[in-house]
Amino acid sequence: MNIILGGGISGLLLASLNKEESLILELQHEVGGLFATEEISGTNISIIPPIVSNPNFMEGLKYHEYNPRIIYEKSKYLKDKICKECETFPSWLDFAGKKFWIDNFSEIISNLSKGVKIINEYPIIIKDKKIITNKGRSVIFDKIYNTISRKELLKLVGYNDPNLKSVSAFITILITKGEKEWDVYINGDTGIVFSHIIRKNIEDDIFVNYIYSFFTSRLPDIKKVFSDLKRTHLFSRDEILAYRSHVIKDAILYGTPSVELDFIKNCGRLGLWKNISLEEAVYLVRKC
Ligand SMILES: Cc1cc2nc3c(=O)[nH]c(=O)nc-3n(C[C@H](O)[C@H](O)[C@H](O)COP(=O)(O)OP(=O)(O)OC[C@H]3O[C@@H](n4cnc5c(N)ncnc54)[C@H](O)[C@@H]3O)c2cc1C
Repeated sequence: MNIILGGGISGLLLASLNKEESLILELQHEVGGLFATEEISGTNISIIPPIVSNPNFMEGLKYHEYNPRIIYEKSKYLKDKICKECETFPSWLDFAGKKFWIDNFSEIISNLSKGVKIINEYPIIIKDKKIITNKGRSVIFDKIYNTISRKELLKLVGYNDPNLKSVSAFITILITKGEKEWDVYINGDTGIVFSHIIRKNIEDDIFVNYIYSFFTSRLPDIKKVFSDLKRTHLFSRDEILAYRSHVIKDAILYGTPSVELDFIKNCGRLGLWKNISLEEAVYLVRKC
């Protein structure tokens, strides 16, 4: 039996491509990882926007062109505001050029999850080819395919890789009414908690806005996000209809992994510890 840690797109594809018997261990109730959806104001919204540069990386995708009108403010400070130590920024923070928004990714995830075995548990002990989960289940495995944090997994098996570093993201999903003259807003001002807002029309006059506030030590306060939205005159209180927040502990990844173990095959963004895009994740799973 192969164990797949993580039921994001990488874990789900690994399980569906794997010829041998496999079992996915997923921490969250919903599968799909960062592309898992939740209902906000009656609409299914994913935790991050499914924006890609090439929409032909998987069969069955429905999509439309997303060519955002971008507003930049103090962009020369952006890199230092988000990550001084990073050599490059993830490609998913680059909104220039032709982009596509995938409309049916939740369907793709739901279809992928139908044919695979998933349990809503996570490993707490890994020893002698045996995994014990938080619910006391014990599973003997041949190999582990890892798509969860490589750092976390190494700790479980008694190793530490000091090279693995990351920046966290506090994501606020805002449902608003009313048009704006921009679709992507980028702000490098360190006095403003957020750096990126990505928005798209979801029905008539209603929009979803993804607000990214990156951080390394203190979790940003939602009140600060709202007061900065007011300060920058981006949204007034009566335009906001609903909101949700999510914390992504390891959002921007940097540092080169230095520890490899023969019974663990690292895949996905957190296993490879690379800022891969959705398209790259799908491509790399086939090589894993
Ligand atoms: C803020 C942000 C925005 C992004 N925007 C875009 C974009 O617009 N376009 C694009 O192409 N790419 C984007 N990406 C990249 C994209 O999210 C990844 O390429 C893709 O999600 C990789 O899927 P994955 O399955 O490898 O990882 P994830 O989606 O991170 O899945 C990992 C899974 O492991 C689970 N897990 C974690 N810990 C445990 C544990 N201990 N036990 C069991 N399960 C666990 C998690 O719950 C999750 O389901 C973005 C990434 C971030 C961080």
